[in-house]
Amino acid sequence: MAKVNPEFAKELTKYGVGDFNACFNCGNCTATCSLSTNDSSFPREMVRYTTLGLEDEIKSSLKPWECYYCGECSKECPRQANPGELMMSLRRWLTAQYDWTGLSGLLYRSLTLTIAALVLVAAGVIFFARSVNFDAETLLHTGHRFEMLAIATVFLVIFVPNLLRMWYFTIVKNGVKAPLKNYSTALSELFIHMFTQKKAKDCDEKDNFRWLEHMVLVFAYLSLLFTTVFLNWFGTESLFIVVLGYVESLLIFVITAHFVSGRIKRNKALNTFSQPSDWLFVIWLLLMGLTAFVVRLFIDLNILENNIWMYLIHLTVLAQWAMIIVPFGKWTHFLYRSFGLYFARIKAMQKS
Ligand code: SF4
Ligand code: SF4
Repeated sequence: MAKVNPEFAKELTKYGVGDFNACFNCGNCTATCSLSTNDSSFPREMVRYTTLGLEDEIKSSLKPWECYYCGECSKECPRQANPGELMMSLRRWLTAQYDWTGLSGLLYRSLTLTIAALVLVAAGVIFFARSVNFDAETLLHTGHRFEMLAIATVFLVIFVPNLLRMWYFTIVKNGVKAPLKNYSTALSELFIHMFTQKKAKDCDEKDNFRWLEHMVLVFAYLSLLFTTVFLNWFGTESLFIVVLGYVESLLIFVITAHFVSGRIKRNKALNTFSQPSDWLFVIWLLLMGLTAFVVRLFIDLNILENNIWMYLIHLTVLAQWAMIIVPFGKWTHFLYRSFGLYFARIKAMQKS
């Protein structure tokens, strides 16, 4: 028998959902959604589950990850129940359920805790810089090593166990017994969705620019990561790598500046209800692009050593990004969405 949690709707308000109780189950939203199919129909079902407090059914569902928040369903809803925002809130809530540390949930629910965590990380960076007498070479060397260590730690300690939990909730608990062959056959789906977000294109057919911008941002972000960590952008003398890093960081800055302005203007359904986690994600990504660009510029102008404060700003933004936003914030949506669509494909293969 399905377990009902009468407090679920209240709990979900902490993740951003508004008044979805006005829903009278007409189904307009599902009929409108261009990503909903006969085999995987949403968002009405998710609204219903939320109203009824069917927490386990929601936790085992991949449907919230199939929504790309084009907002068409919310536009067509006769009761202003805003199903698009409900799907977004469910994604935040699911992120908290997958996270074994419980920190994602804490940070999503409390802005005070989020600010405290950011301040703590900034204090740690300043404390460390002071302990090495603000020596530019030591700081640059440590910053580079920190990036490598952070990537390995977040991947092994946070992402691997959390993805296993997601797999357990959505595949194992649903009784899906897929052979290994299906996992390898569907692997291409994982990478296609991860790098191209191609479903976003179907979601908002009138606005392919948003999809294109998002895809360029993913490529620019991942390649800047590669350029700084593996090609040692701040230490290299290769002109090609230097220019490559400039282009990547500039792209990140320009696109995220556009995203921030969209959130300020609330010019799309996606931007109508911004939560602190949404702001943090775009602002910190913008700061990452901007500060990385300026640090490399200071190196090329040979003025970084006398202006080490600039590198400290970059290191602080980087540490906050790597220790808070990537493992416990909105960054994880990128990962869970790709795996969500991968698992959905495996489930579909099992049925057919
Ligand atoms: S959310 Fe709106 S459109 Fe969807 S079923 Fe409820 S009332 Fe109808
Ligand atoms: S926001 Fe778009 S993709 Fe998401 S459920 Fe609504 S119509 Fe479908």
